[in-house]
Amino acid sequence: MNIVDIIHSALAQRKTRFAFELLPPLKGDGMEGISAAIDPLMAFDPAYINVTFHREGIKQTVRADGSTEWHVVRRRPGTVGISAAIQKKYGVETVPHLICGGLSKYDIEDALIDMDFLGLHNVLALRGDKSQNERRFMPHPQGHAHATDLVRQIAGMNRGEFVDGEVEECHHSRFSIGVAGYPETHEEAASPEEDIRHLKAKIDAGADYIVTQLFYDNSRFFDFVTRCRAAGIGVPIIPGIKPLSTVRHLELLPRTFGCRIPEELAREVEAHRDDKAAVRQIGTEWAIAQSRELIAAGVPVLHYYPMGKAENIIEIARTVF
Ligand code: FAD
Repeated sequence: MNIVDIIHSALAQRKTRFAFELLPPLKGDGMEGISAAIDPLMAFDPAYINVTFHREGIKQTVRADGSTEWHVVRRRPGTVGISAAIQKKYGVETVPHLICGGLSKYDIEDALIDMDFLGLHNVLALRGDKSQNERRFMPHPQGHAHATDLVRQIAGMNRGEFVDGEVEECHHSRFSIGVAGYPETHEEAASPEEDIRHLKAKIDAGADYIVTQLFYDNSRFFDFVTRCRAAGIGVPIIPGIKPLSTVRHLELLPRTFGCRIPEELAREVEAHRDDKAAVRQIGTEWAIAQSRELIAAGVPVLHYYPMGKAENIIEIARTVF
């Protein structure tokens, strides 16, 4: 079933569904770790499972003397393969992410053909972040600079258009396409209005639904939805939720994801900064309150980001679903 149909069915039944996102295993690891993360979450009848996509990991470290050192970090390849394995093992629609970064249009086409053969008919189309050694995002010379172009390629393939031209009388893929949206505006956008214009371009290019970047203040999500609707974006918008779980997150989450931490949450975390369990509980309870308000507002799906740590997601799901 296409994700967009699952979303519309949840909207028709006025029942918010649970969904979550996972990272593929590190190179050299088997499926055990990912199965251990999924198994306990199956009790909450996930609408779908997303699997992230990671480009080559090159990391820059600055030595004490100020010079720099480059080294390759252990990668997480295998997004398409592990997505197919998850879908087969658990019988839950699985959505591989696909990015522009580091890939040519031909690489992308090959990945899409693999997905189609493997029965993966949903994809989250992203540009990807700049790599560690880039000042700004650099597209592959034969690739795409923006997610809009990736969406266009996928939608074109659904119509029988391939990189080298149209194939008449061909098997047509039927990908349902999701894209990313930013309630607090993407860091590279010149303005919130421009970011929404670019988001609209992704929908006009053929995307069916939006999954948002994580946020901690629901009013920012509600405002984002209002601005999208005013701009003529009519597709479903799925909120992304990640419970804060450490004191370090107060600084790390805004820096990495461009989200603001509400003062009330920051104050509570600071007041318990030496008690790891208390901080974790504060973050979990905040996410529970966020989830409850979003459910009351009628969102079709809540998309959780466990980022390798499922325990707090289990507690949230047990409480709200
Ligand atoms: P785009 O839609 O291309 O937008 C990027 C920036 O360019 C924005 O500022 C936008 O306003 C601007 N822009 C868009 N079109 C144009 C245009 N035509 N001209 C000028 N500017 C333009 N990253 C990964 O590497 N792997 C993942 O699996 C992954 N999963 C994610 C899942 C979700 C739900 C989200 C929210 C993000 C995810 N990311 C992932 C991170 C994402 O790749 C980054 O946030 C990236 O910087 C932007 O991706 P995008 O698809 O939103 O890009």
